[in-house]
Amino acid sequence: MNSIDLDKVSIPYHILSLIPAKTARALMVLPVSVENGLVTVCVKDKHNFRVINTLEQVTAMQVEAVEATEESVLKKAVFFNYPESFVDGTINQAPELFRYLLRQAIYVGASDIHICHEKDGCVIKTRVDGKMRSGRSFSKQAASELVSYIKVQAKMDISQKRVPLDGNIETELDGREISLRVATVPTINGEHVTLRLLTQNDNVTALDSLEGLGLGDLQFRLLKQSLSVANGVVIISGPTGSGKTTTLYAGLRELVKDGTRHVVSIEDPVEKPIDKVTQIKVDSEKERVSFHKALRSVLRHDPDVIMIGEIRDAETADIALKSALTGHLVLATLHTNSAPGILNRLVDLGAPDFLVASTLRLVIAQRLVRRPCSLCMEWEVLPQVILEKYGWSERSNVKVPKVNGCPHCAYTGYSGRTAIYEMLPVNSSVQQMLLESKSEVEIYNYLKGKAYNLTLRGDGLRKVLKGQTTLEEIESTTVNDNDAVFNLEGSSTG
Ligand SMILES: [Zn+2]
Repeated sequence: MNSIDLDKVSIPYHILSLIPAKTARALMVLPVSVENGLVTVCVKDKHNFRVINTLEQVTAMQVEAVEATEESVLKKAVFFNYPESFVDGTINQAPELFRYLLRQAIYVGASDIHICHEKDGCVIKTRVDGKMRSGRSFSKQAASELVSYIKVQAKMDISQKRVPLDGNIETELDGREISLRVATVPTINGEHVTLRLLTQNDNVTALDSLEGLGLGDLQFRLLKQSLSVANGVVIISGPTGSGKTTTLYAGLRELVKDGTRHVVSIEDPVEKPIDKVTQIKVDSEKERVSFHKALRSVLRHDPDVIMIGEIRDAETADIALKSALTGHLVLATLHTNSAPGILNRLVDLGAPDFLVASTLRLVIAQRLVRRPCSLCMEWEVLPQVILEKYGWSERSNVKVPKVNGCPHCAYTGYSGRTAIYEMLPVNSSVQQMLLESKSEVEIYNYLKGKAYNLTLRGDGLRKVLKGQTTLEEIESTTVNDNDAVFNLEGSSTG
């Protein structure tokens, strides 16, 4: 390692703590990694032995000095990782600590911040790319002040410590609006707080358009075609946090582009305002505005396109399908594991199979998988025995990404996520299978047999070969299709 690019680097706390904040800021140095008693420190000039000697004394370790690519970037990184309030060794001001945690979370693209109480202290954890990361620890006292501060900000009753509470915080940080959903729950060690960052990270804005979703050519055409028809139903399924809403929103943006259609969405909650879309918030808890009630009234407002946040009950399913019959395009989400499962789920909800067959245009299943960190990823050649497992045995020299770890990805080897999709167009063959009451497995086998890489697994493997995710991620998010044969040449869609 000769030089290092420190832009947007958040160093784990156990590494930062090797050098006191005061020293780091005075010498303008930043520890970036520790391995086998060797600490790598980013410095301005690696030939300045006075600085390196000091660092070896302070850390009591051998120091490997690397130079930052730019002095101004190093300065920014040092001040970011060691904020002013760290200089005296402790942060005792809750507002300062809160802003620090928020800034760190936004910097690394976290979706949630957790304040977790343990027996003798508290630890801050963040969820980044769907996985939890442990962060800095604090004393009980600091944690309790932080929790009280957050509760006041979220307009919660701070005297209530024995019941779960919900609230919201709207604040400003470094000139940008930040919106947080706050939830507390009493645990045996103290009040656990979860902060959900509702403000979108900069790195997901690319997903705002259909083009940015990372679809294969065939998938892209299927989705675009299904959205261009005047009536029909397109449904996306996937677990919570699989990016369904992002895909639906990208679809809505496409639909309002030319301004000729009235697009209405019914959501719980409205995740993000979209230009030119009439967004309605349902209140399912209080039963004042339920999905099906809202849907009924929406139909009286002359919509061309209706998006339904989630089909949860038979009544909503019924109105959704019948709206398609009367000339509307309906987009919705549903909870199932696979794309074919959507068809059977609708039938289970009481929709007649002929209605499902005649209104559904496209069913989609979606998952999010982590992307390998582009700065430390390497390619490795797969051994023959593994090639067979993925149906690549006819190929030799198949290379897939191998993750490592660096300061940029907080040593996880991953940075950011991408979506993988399963798409089943409801064509005449699928309609026929539905009318013959074929099972989800039979329809899935039909989809797999088509070998267009339209299953989650197939799409995932396609993305592995492109270096956009890893085999490990695909193994942990998709079902094992041992017998699936995905021909590399003939069937690749993108
Ligand atoms: Zn990395």
